[in-house]
Amino acid sequence: AKASGKRAFLRYADAMDGDIRRRANLIAALRKAVERGELSLVYQPELVLAEGRIGAVEALLRWHNPEFGDVSPSEFIPLAEESGTIISIGEWVLHEACRTLAGWHRAGVDERLKVSVNVSALQLLRSDLPDSVSSALRRCGLPASALELELTESMLMANAEVASERLHAFRRLGVSIAVDDFGTGYSSLSYLHRLPINTLKIDKAFIDGLATPDDREDTTITTTVIAMARTLGLRVVAEGVETPGQLAFLEQNACDIAQGYWISRPLTEDACLRFLLERQAQ
Ligand code: C2E
Ligand code: CA
Ligand code: CA
Ligand code: CA
Repeated sequence: AKASGKRAFLRYADAMDGDIRRRANLIAALRKAVERGELSLVYQPELVLAEGRIGAVEALLRWHNPEFGDVSPSEFIPLAEESGTIISIGEWVLHEACRTLAGWHRAGVDERLKVSVNVSALQLLRSDLPDSVSSALRRCGLPASALELELTESMLMANAEVASERLHAFRRLGVSIAVDDFGTGYSSLSYLHRLPINTLKIDKAFIDGLATPDDREDTTITTTVIAMARTLGLRVVAEGVETPGQLAFLEQNACDIAQGYWISRPLTEDACLRFLLERQAQ
């Protein structure tokens, strides 16, 4: 029993060792990912329900590395955050998203189309973030109203003071702010109400339960968030809409915007341009 316990431990230690090594190797590879051109963005359309129009696209980061293949953002973004690489990656994302949107506008896409960019906690802490944002806009010739920044509810809570300062700077620039993954962070509404926020994105976890046989809780939460947002003058986006039933529920309950596989998967720059032009022509 003793010997087999030892073997089990060694297997465990080996697996741990493998994990640690993978993390270290991924972090080293991430440092060079921008300059080696391994990063790209895909874009997921957001449907304005009352108008049947795509109002925005969310930029989502992808990483393809020759050794590791496609690495999921849920694995590499936390590593980029821990190692500080997210700062240069985040700058690249901002500029690339703005460059793409400006190109689409020139190609005939509705000028009202916005791009929404995810911002990490470490980026938010930096006092030069508002400058990076305005310089990306200026370099691409975009008005500030073309950009929305997504910050998670838990990020805003964890860094209340700094968050408030940055959000006011964004407001002064004219960039809009969305609270991402809303509903998962247990924030108090009175707190959020004091911040200059434009949009709430209801987390997919709540949308999953809509229009299913046992949907009481998720239904209540979603309708409550929509009503509350209306009172506060905020837009509401439902994330992760995967079925026509969920979409119908959201339309009936006056949700503003829907995003999810049922509307479109995230698309490459070219595919998204085709998607947008085709829909406009309809
Ligand atoms: P998020 O900001 O909550 O993004 C939504 C995620 O849900 C995306 O995953 C998207 O592909 C996925 N999704 C959208 N619709 C559906 C649906 O109908 N069903 C399902 N199952 N999934 C759906 P993705 O692209 O893997 O990104 C994961 C997370 O990585 C994002 O969550 C965000 O937190 C982070 N992320 C992605 N790009 C960036 C970035 O450029 N910067 C930062 N800081 N974080 C990013
Ligand atoms: Ca997001
Ligand atoms: Ca989200
Ligand atoms: Ca999420």
